[in-house]
Amino acid sequence: MPRDLPPGAVQCRSCARWIVYARTESGALAPIDARPATVYVFVEDESPLRGEPRVQRAAADQQIHISHFASCPNAGAWRATGRPG
Ligand SMILES: [Zn+2]
Repeated sequence: MPRDLPPGAVQCRSCARWIVYARTESGALAPIDARPATVYVFVEDESPLRGEPRVQRAAADQQIHISHFASCPNAGAWRATGRPG
């Protein structure tokens, strides 16, 4: 297992990405991407340049991890069981 991953990381059996099973606030066990993602939020702008939307990095002071339900290219194949890894 690569050193930059949290304890308990396993590889998704569907796409081989590193994930961690973590307990959510509601008590469910959820597959989460082990490596943090860079997430952007749209920013309101009254005069957008050529109509292009503007974004800024979300919670730049925190590491954000994406649900593997959202990031796995094969999530449709294992979503019913909830166990990709
Ligand atoms: Zn996967």
